[in-house]
Amino acid sequence: MKQLIFAANWKMHLGPDGARAFLTAFLEGHRRLPDREVWFFPSAVALEAVVSLTRGHPDIRVGVQNVYWEPKGAFTGELGIPMAREGGAEASLVGHSERRHIFGETDAETGNKVRALLEHELIPMLCVGEKIDEREAGETLAVVERQLGVLQQHDAAALAKVVIAYEPVWAIGTGKTATPSDASQVHAFIRGWFADRGVAPQDARILYGGSVKPANIQALVSDAEIDGVLVGGASLDPGAWSEIVGTKLD
Ligand code: PEP
Repeated sequence: MKQLIFAANWKMHLGPDGARAFLTAFLEGHRRLPDREVWFFPSAVALEAVVSLTRGHPDIRVGVQNVYWEPKGAFTGELGIPMAREGGAEASLVGHSERRHIFGETDAETGNKVRALLEHELIPMLCVGEKIDEREAGETLAVVERQLGVLQQHDAAALAKVVIAYEPVWAIGTGKTATPSDASQVHAFIRGWFADRGVAPQDARILYGGSVKPANIQALVSDAEIDGVLVGGASLDPGAWSEIVGTKLD
C-alpha cells in the first residue's frame, strides 16, 4: 500500500495559542488512516504546544521549519538541531523557496543543513522547484537536478531518509497548481535520480507542494508518482486541513 505524507507548513503563522486552538478543532474529528501520516511544521515557539497536544497520535509527526547546521554556540537567532530534537521535532524543512528567495539561502547552506540533520538523526524535508522564468525556459529538470546535488555526498541508506518536496515556486501561495501530470513528470525524474544512487523507487518519498487545497488534493495524491503533499495556506484552516488529510484515493 502506498504510504502518504500530508505535511502542514504553517510558515510565520500560529503561535502557541493559535496552534492549540487549531489542534483542538482538528483533532476532534481526526481518525488515523493506515496509509498515511500527518506532519506539522509549526513556528519554533509553537513546537512544544504541537508536540504535547499530538502525543498519543502515532500517525502525527512534528518538525521545525528551519535549523542551523552548528549544534550550539554564538549564533544569535538561529535554531540548533539538538535543541529542536529536545523540543520533540523529528524533521525539518530545508531549502523552502521562501528561505532560498527571500533570505538568500544558497545550495551550499542547504547542503550543510541536510548533512547536519542526518548526523543528528532528524529527517530533512528538502524542498526543490523552479521559478516561472526557469520553467518557461525549459529548465525545470536542470534546476531540480542542481538543487538535488546537495545530496550527492550521501550514500543510499542516508538518502532513503530524506523526504523531497517538489514545489514549483510559481505555484506557492499563488493559487496556481501544477497539473498532476506536470508534477508527476518531475517526480519521476527525482525518483530516477534516487534510483541511480541505489534508493529503491518505493523507498523514495516525494511530495508535491504549491496551492494544494481540498478541490485539487484528490487528483494529486491519486497519482502513483506523488507520495503526499506539503501544504501552506490551506493547512491553516482546520476544516480544510481535515478534508485534505482525509482525502480518499481514486
Ligand atoms: C508551502 O509553503 O510550502 C506551500 C506549498 O504553500 P501554499 O500551499 O500556500 O502554496
